[in-house]
Amino acid sequence: MQHGSFLSSSSLNRRQFFKAFAAATAVMEVTPARAQTPAADIGAEQIEQTHEALFDLWFPLSQFGLPPEVEASIASIAAEVSKGMLAAFVDSPLAAVLAGMTQPAALPFSQELAASSDPAVQAFLAAPGGFGGMDPELRTPLYSFLFEGSAGPLSTQMAAILREAYLSSIWDLPLAEPLAEFIAPPVFVNRPDIYAQRNAPGIAPSRLVYDAAQQTIRHRGGPIDYLVVGSGPGGATVASQLQAAGKRVVLIEKGPFVVWGSMMTRSYPRLMYRDDRATTTDNAIIVRSGETLGGGSTVNIDLAFSPLESTVQARINAWIEDGLMDSSYSTERLATAYEWVRKAIGTRTLSESELNNDNRALWDGASAYGVDPSLYHLNRFPVGDSPSPVDDKLDAARQLIYPAIADRQNPLGLIPDAIVDEILFDDSGMRATGVRLHTTEPWTDYDNTIVDPSNLGIDPGVSVTIEANEIILSAGTIGTTEILLNTAKANPAVANPSIGRGLILHPSFPLLGLFDRTINLLEGLDSATFCSAFGVTPGFIYETMGGLPAYGALLVPGSGKQIYDELVRFNDYVGFGCMLVDTPSEDNRVMLDENGDTVLRYALSDSDKERFRIGVAIGIRMMFLAGAKKVIIPSNENVLGLPDFDPMVGTYLTDISQVDIVERTIEFVPNRTILTSAHLQATNKMGPKDKGVVSLNHRLWGVNGEEVPNVYVMDSSIFPTSVGANPMQSLYSIAKIFSERLLDGFAT
Ligand SMILES: Cc1cc2nc3c(=O)[nH]c(=O)nc-3n(C[C@H](O)[C@H](O)[C@H](O)COP(=O)(O)OP(=O)(O)OC[C@H]3O[C@@H](n4cnc5c(N)ncnc54)[C@H](O)[C@@H]3O)c2cc1C
Repeated sequence: MQHGSFLSSSSLNRRQFFKAFAAATAVMEVTPARAQTPAADIGAEQIEQTHEALFDLWFPLSQFGLPPEVEASIASIAAEVSKGMLAAFVDSPLAAVLAGMTQPAALPFSQELAASSDPAVQAFLAAPGGFGGMDPELRTPLYSFLFEGSAGPLSTQMAAILREAYLSSIWDLPLAEPLAEFIAPPVFVNRPDIYAQRNAPGIAPSRLVYDAAQQTIRHRGGPIDYLVVGSGPGGATVASQLQAAGKRVVLIEKGPFVVWGSMMTRSYPRLMYRDDRATTTDNAIIVRSGETLGGGSTVNIDLAFSPLESTVQARINAWIEDGLMDSSYSTERLATAYEWVRKAIGTRTLSESELNNDNRALWDGASAYGVDPSLYHLNRFPVGDSPSPVDDKLDAARQLIYPAIADRQNPLGLIPDAIVDEILFDDSGMRATGVRLHTTEPWTDYDNTIVDPSNLGIDPGVSVTIEANEIILSAGTIGTTEILLNTAKANPAVANPSIGRGLILHPSFPLLGLFDRTINLLEGLDSATFCSAFGVTPGFIYETMGGLPAYGALLVPGSGKQIYDELVRFNDYVGFGCMLVDTPSEDNRVMLDENGDTVLRYALSDSDKERFRIGVAIGIRMMFLAGAKKVIIPSNENVLGLPDFDPMVGTYLTDISQVDIVERTIEFVPNRTILTSAHLQATNKMGPKDKGVVSLNHRLWGVNGEEVPNVYVMDSSIFPTSVGANPMQSLYSIAKIFSERLLDGFAT
């Protein structure tokens, strides 16, 4: 069973809801001093009226021209969907945005609104009940005004947040399946609880004990040799390699331990950072990262870029030449390590016969453009071979951690549902003694997770310590940065100002192409083709992608009716994306806000925008050359330079000659053009003491310019710049070499 989508799972609407909620809070909090307190309490009825007006704006059912009996059936589903949305929205940060739309004086940009002579804005301000109370004819023009941003970027952000929340919820499965005529792949097996009981991996008796009096965890066999934090490709490889070498190793993972095969874990919100609702601080880029056993490898799309690909080799060799990486990561040694990875993980090569129509489009388009497309390697079972009816992923948990925890001679100690807060040091501040962590409430909604596999019996929320000789941080770009920033607060000896800086996101720009034949992008293998001809220079890669209508709806600019017109042709659309290999700049960073929570600050530099424009333009040309009759890009900027442009009227491209104009005009304006990111990297760079956060031996630099001898980082955060392509296979390979170096004392 293939699970064919880029943003798959029926809970996609939750993902989008949550993203909107998080961003909504940001809108309302950015300028609290300027936001006025609502003059009077806003009644629930008025909020409901605003909600209904917004629902109707984005789903104008009476305009769809459906036969009366069909319209009646759809109307009854829509009423249920609308009711559910309202109940969820009012119980979330989005409630503040709905309140602002109901009483505009409460909006942080109300003064700018008042200064406008636009009749729609005036009607919005004057009508009791704001958006819900105003003349329905003026609602779309008001939205155009908000998007245009003359009332400031927050108005654009608010318009985008509401649009995303409404469209992703409206176009979730209950309405999308009958209207777009497709069937979504299942996420769970029929009885995940029974499946999990029958298929739980073997776990050797725990050697770990919890001393409740001391609030500390110990190993029965003696001192813990290595404590590994985070179980993604980096951490899983290191932990399993050290365990296999006979070391006493404990692996701590923030996320849950899902029994493999009981569900399709790919893109499942509960297994991701902030329930997959994260964006950059300005809501411009949707940011995605795994938080579960196996880390990103458990939720990702399994596209396997060899570290020997020219686009990756160009970066690694340049780092070595520039003294930013140790020469042990030579091509030759990486080749040997990658052979091991392919076997250990089960990476397979596709054949051209596996291409579905969606993948065929990028294949044909690239060929017609005169560059070579390539077939992915995938970390998946061959079609039909998976022992699970819903999952086909060969992830780090199943392939590396399962054998290590089953070893009765020397089991890997595993503590899921536990967050490492900081590294603890001796009095010198330069030698780590262990970590402080706290346990969390485990996820048991479907009874398909293993809770407390080490039988520690620690109550959720309790803060405990664990000592170890050596500590390896593999908590990913966000997680490791958070731990290092928290540690730096308590220990000035390691308060390196470079921690968290120079974030790489690999922003991706999705493209939709309408064909005059059926594509059925959810059928067969979802992701099979890429084109890296421009990977080294200018630095972008094309990759196939699919998605459900809830995602597609976000990508189609224009009115609710225009979106409907395109989504009912869902089965005739193909999708691929252009991913930018972005360059680091100091101000793009993972940092902690005043509450100690991580935030991702990021803006595209002018030179990155310049390269991205070229990449997007080539992508659109490829889409036309592949045979698309219409190409839609996820932007309501005036990309064709039209006179009297209106952002609520979608501009779709129908001729390849229009691409030149797009290439000149697109600005990637936050909240007017949608970008996504799933390859966070480079916040704790490897390098010499004046440049890096960690040394070429992966050891944390102290502020005195000396290495902390027993704290290492081995994950996506150590890359000095972008690794040049999807990072997973490079991480497995580099982690394999790092483990060998660690075991032989960095002699080789
Ligand atoms: C939706 C999606 C699709 C992707 N598609 C691809 C693809 O097709 N191909 C590809 O090559 N790459 C892909 N990636 C990227 C790839 O998965 C990541 O680059 C990779 O997983 C990063 O590995 P890592 O070892 O650095 O850390 P991660 O995989 O991020 O793992 C870090 C782990 O540390 C845990 N952690 C964080 N903080 C703490 C803490 N304080 N205490 C304890 N544990 C903590 C997290 O829960 C997480 O499980 C995708 C990512 C996503 C999210």
